Amino acid sequence: MNFIFLGPPGAGKGTLAAKVAESYKIPHISTGEIFRAAIKAQTPLGQKVKAILDSGALVSDDITIELVKDRLSQPDTKNGFILDGFPRTIPQAEALENIVKIDAAVNFDISDEGVIERLSGRRVCKNCSQNYHIKFLKPAKENVCDKCGGELFIRDDDKPESIAHRLEVYRSQTAPLIDFYKNKKLLVDIDAKPAADIILAEFKKKF
Ligand code: AMP
Repeated sequence: MNFIFLGPPGAGKGTLAAKVAESYKIPHISTGEIFRAAIKAQTPLGQKVKAILDSGALVSDDITIELVKDRLSQPDTKNGFILDGFPRTIPQAEALENIVKIDAAVNFDISDEGVIERLSGRRVCKNCSQNYHIKFLKPAKENVCDKCGGELFIRDDDKPESIAHRLEVYRSQTAPLIDFYKNKKLLVDIDAKPAADIILAEFKKKF
């Protein structure tokens, strides 16, 4: 199936997407992760988008749509995929309709307080990008990745000033997608508050 994961930053989309990708053997495509990898590798794209990501604003629709179009043309997406963090604007959703058919838009339901708690406690592995949380998803050893031993860090856009901005951007630009997909009868709500494994069990019941 072709899934979109929709919801505010910090709702747990990336964590669930990694689990669903593993269980359903479909690729997890995170536009944020693609941008961060480009920044780390200092590619021309990375240089172009670094300041935008740090501020919590959105990269332009043109750049993002082109990137996703290219990624979805790769053969590993033929049996399904999860788009995590795309689309994030109505023009992106409209462009996606001309690229591929979506089977479900999974909407992660969470309060602003929940978002702030999740983002401010998030830690990410410098090496393999695995996500952790200081309260909900602790690594076995403080600040060390369980998977690869890499050092954990706080994303620049998880700092308080960026979190507030990202929530504002979500409300004004991305939240309208809920109605967009509801009107197309593709929206499936999921309670994003419980732990990831409970949400995964819920997801498997629905799909
Ligand atoms: P995420 O990892 O999904 O929270 O994305 C991190 C950042 O990457 C966002 O705050 C944006 O700056 C950028 N980004 C990711 N996906 C998109 C998108 N679909 N459209 C525009 N910017 C995006």
